[in-house]
Amino acid sequence: MKLSIKHAGLSVGILAVGLLLTSCRCSQPAATASAGSTVAAEVQTKSSQAAMTPELALQELREGNARFVAGTPRTRNFPAEVKATASGQYPFAVILSCLDSRQPVEIVFDQGIGDVFSARVAGNVLNKDILGSMEFACNVSGAKLIAVVGHSNCGAIKGAVDDVELGNLTGLLAKIKPAVDSIPDDGQPRTSKNHEFVDKVAEANVELVMKEIRERSPILRGMLDRGEIGLVGGMYDLDTGEVRFLNQAMTGAHLDLPQNKIQN
Ligand SMILES: [Zn+2]
Repeated sequence: MKLSIKHAGLSVGILAVGLLLTSCRCSQPAATASAGSTVAAEVQTKSSQAAMTPELALQELREGNARFVAGTPRTRNFPAEVKATASGQYPFAVILSCLDSRQPVEIVFDQGIGDVFSARVAGNVLNKDILGSMEFACNVSGAKLIAVVGHSNCGAIKGAVDDVELGNLTGLLAKIKPAVDSIPDDGQPRTSKNHEFVDKVAEANVELVMKEIRERSPILRGMLDRGEIGLVGGMYDLDTGEVRFLNQAMTGAHLDLPQNKIQN
């Protein structure tokens, strides 16, 4: 079952196909709807996942966020989606984002049950367990896109900027320090009170995590290099609800990134 999913994903990872199919809808209607409901479940299926490309996956996230910002999310029947996904999952993306309660991934990207894998940790930092989760999501379960999404006014970034020390949080914030150090000194305050600085560090942290994903996972690097999956960074704006994707380099290969390593 898993092997067939993977092979189905590999066979369609052609960028040109993705560009030609940009107008097609990513979620395919499931055949099932709960009795008595008026809204059918629309969930990812084996065939819809197989038809997905990194570009289409990114487009789905862009369009979902646009629906969220506009206040026009899809009408969903969650009980029907639960039933329709009970026998298997075929998510099209894996998203690493912050623990912050104001950035609930499925809501801000207007996704339903079984649509995306979601890894959340303060400061959207990377560690071996999250890397392993991403390898499962992409190499075993067939997800086509890795998205690392930080956000504005992030408390974890502020903590790293201010050298906060508190129990196990100290080690987590240490993972963000390379991003802090990567921002050139422009004479402005390098504290959490400088919101512009905090957001620059948050963006640098996203790019650093993207770089680390490539460097530390030969499995994901190989899939990226073969075009089977994409890797993209984004910043969520707490004031507007908008996600701004950082670049069009889906593999992250052309990013100008800090040289420092994130700790395990
Ligand atoms: Zn945060």
